[in-house]
Amino acid sequence: MLIIERILNECYRFKSFVYRNSRIERVKDKFRIVVNIIPRKNSQGKCSKCFRKGPTYDHQDERRFSFVPLWGIPVVFCYKPRRIDCSCGVKIEFMPWTKGNSHLTNAYKIFLSSWAKRLSWKETGQIFSVSWDTVMSSVEYVVSYGLSNRCLSRIETLGIDEIQYRTGKKYLTLVYQIDEYCKRLIWIGEEHKAKTLFKFFKMFGEERTSQLTAICSDMWKAYRKVIVKKAPNAIHVLDRFHIMKHFNEAIDESRRQEMKKLKEKGYDLILKGSRWILLKKAKNLTENQISKLSVILKHNLQTVRCYLLRESFQRFWEYKSIYWARLFLKRWTTIAMRSKIEPIKKVAKMLRRHEDVILNWFKMKNRVSNGIVEGFNNKAKLTIRKSYGFKSFKVAELALYHVLGNLPEPELTHRFT
Ligand SMILES: [Zn+2]
Repeated sequence: MLIIERILNECYRFKSFVYRNSRIERVKDKFRIVVNIIPRKNSQGKCSKCFRKGPTYDHQDERRFSFVPLWGIPVVFCYKPRRIDCSCGVKIEFMPWTKGNSHLTNAYKIFLSSWAKRLSWKETGQIFSVSWDTVMSSVEYVVSYGLSNRCLSRIETLGIDEIQYRTGKKYLTLVYQIDEYCKRLIWIGEEHKAKTLFKFFKMFGEERTSQLTAICSDMWKAYRKVIVKKAPNAIHVLDRFHIMKHFNEAIDESRRQEMKKLKEKGYDLILKGSRWILLKKAKNLTENQISKLSVILKHNLQTVRCYLLRESFQRFWEYKSIYWARLFLKRWTTIAMRSKIEPIKKVAKMLRRHEDVILNWFKMKNRVSNGIVEGFNNKAKLTIRKSYGFKSFKVAELALYHVLGNLPEPELTHRFT
């Protein structure tokens, strides 16, 4: 069985330890590969607290650590940890292949978490016959390494977004770096209050905040207030994604009101099943949806007028000069205010109220790629939908950092995936 030890020496070698006595262990109809680890001759153990070398005090009972399976066969390391007689007390030794009380090797954690990035945590657990909690602790190991080793300097542009992560109006505040040269999720806060965003700026620190040149966000009042107070020098931009979100909410609101009225008259079939057709971008509609949409558009409905008003607003984003964009905004809001459609009037009022911040978008246009916040928002939703079993904020936080944080990963001499 020397070959196993040779393979391990190639891909997972430790200076002060050696692999010995690899063998097969049978348990009922299953079997696994078991390998002993022993300290190299004449080497002293390191204190796990202060990392100084010291003489052995005594040995603890044998512990087992799961390693990456070979040909689908579980691989287990056995080791009897030494206790070190250190100047800081009698301490358990530092074992470079694991951390804390874990029964997994770090390599296996990195391996599992790389699969958990592609699959749901549940599927990852099923494939490798480990529990959901094991997958979670693997992701936790990789994420906490990444967070403590990432670099937060040279951040100029932020995108702030909120996302619902559980039913019952449970929101998260997500802060992204959206610079051309680096796009990633940098912070997650529970809830979407002013207090939440204050917490972010506290973590981010005054020096980094003073280097910010622009912040994209929704016009959510709580956020605006904090941005103006904490980063007064950065240009505040209401980006396209967030503004169009308000239009969609207006269409949806109008559709709901109108459905109710039509139902009373027995005409509700016209709008039935139209929700996603009306909210989707026209270019993403399927053939079927297009024909359904053309039927809906023939009716003189409030929802249809609402839809057309949104479509006519899309031109706004194509302007190159702020002057013409401002003029368009004035004209469009005037028409919308006369439409007598309450939800769309609400949008028009909001656009007027935030005119300057909206027009800031044209100053930013060449720096922030259009749709970057939207892209992140979709990925975050997908991550949540992949049902990681978001029982708590902590789990949501881990999964989102893992997938969107672009975090540095612990290094291995050999990549398993
Ligand atoms: Zn020590």
